[in-house]
Amino acid sequence: MRKDPARHSFEIRARDGDARAGLLHTAHGQISTPAFIPLATKASVRSLSSTEVAGLGYELVLGNTFHLHLSPGEDRIAAHGGMHGFMGWEGAIITDSGGFQVFSLAHGGVADEIKGRRGPQQGRVRVEISERGVGFQSLLDGSDRFLGPEESMEIQAKLGSDIALVFDECTPSHADRDYTARSMERTHRWLDRCLDWHGERGPSDQAVFGIIQGGVHEDLRREAAERVGAAAVDGISIGGALGKDKEEMNGVVAMTAPLLPPDAPVHLLGIGEVDDLIHGIGVGVDVFDCSVPTRLARHGVAFAPAPEGRFRIDLAKARYADDDTPISEGCPCEACRRHSRAYLHYLARGDELTGARLLTLHNLTYMERLMAGAREAISAGEYASYASAVLGGAAPWAASPSAGASQAL
Ligand SMILES: [Zn+2]
Repeated sequence: MRKDPARHSFEIRARDGDARAGLLHTAHGQISTPAFIPLATKASVRSLSSTEVAGLGYELVLGNTFHLHLSPGEDRIAAHGGMHGFMGWEGAIITDSGGFQVFSLAHGGVADEIKGRRGPQQGRVRVEISERGVGFQSLLDGSDRFLGPEESMEIQAKLGSDIALVFDECTPSHADRDYTARSMERTHRWLDRCLDWHGERGPSDQAVFGIIQGGVHEDLRREAAERVGAAAVDGISIGGALGKDKEEMNGVVAMTAPLLPPDAPVHLLGIGEVDDLIHGIGVGVDVFDCSVPTRLARHGVAFAPAPEGRFRIDLAKARYADDDTPISEGCPCEACRRHSRAYLHYLARGDELTGARLLTLHNLTYMERLMAGAREAISAGEYASYASAVLGGAAPWAASPSAGASQAL
């Protein structure tokens, strides 16, 4: 780990067990942690304006190197003030490296795998993986493209993000131990190349997070933690295949987190279900990003304090057609304050933009309140009871220590 306050610093202000609450300082302001990071994959949080995202309380969004490289291109974004100027976002930005996307072209989509379509699905586009990086065909226009450690860092420098992620291979869960080990070693060689490029040519106010791979194998995760923790990175992201089910995933996260430098900000890549966040915070994860809240919203699915239904309700279901109650009683979002499940059901069934927008507002409000409650509970030394209340079906705003205090009055 390196300490360079001009780029970034992390201040842990409270600890409760392994959970911690802190402040991540970046070139574009500070982020209260634990924090959820909404995806601005293509330089927009879909259906919302940047002002609206900030209004929900978010201080950090995540842009995608692969997508923004293909369109509109990093040079065009750089000409318009980087991602901040281009999308009118004044808060902090983290960019992923594009590694996940280019390797997904080869591995058939790690996301597909999570949804149960296991195994590689090669042949859709040409992909060539070598020590230098990954050559592939653009899905947009068929042009030849190449992304390696240096290219990824250069694109992220032009995008002007506050935190860049190193270029890595997200090993799919169908890969065997041998492949996972060899891939991890290459990811470590790429880590050195990313840091070399960034040290010479990267923006002096951009932080770089290293990525821990190693699949579900404890010895590999330990080796990755030692290797990345000893490098000149500003923070650490836990990536890769985390297991075949929630139990295994929670086990891998719980096993990996304590191996990391104790003062490093820890980012868990691509995880964002309510119970997974509660568990991750409990073992010391500080920031999470995931497409789930925004993607589900566009499919009529809303987060709710419903542990029996994976903390979500599918408003497109017929049972909500005449339901006059809000999605979630007490939720401060516009969808819950002004509208019934019946109306949102109707909008979801009709694929109305207004429905996608209202549910995006709701899901992101839910996530922000979940994290705000966690921050408050950690500071009060009451994280365990907050976690068990949320997992037991309490809404985040009803489970936080201040809600308990106001009820007692
Ligand atoms: Zn709501």
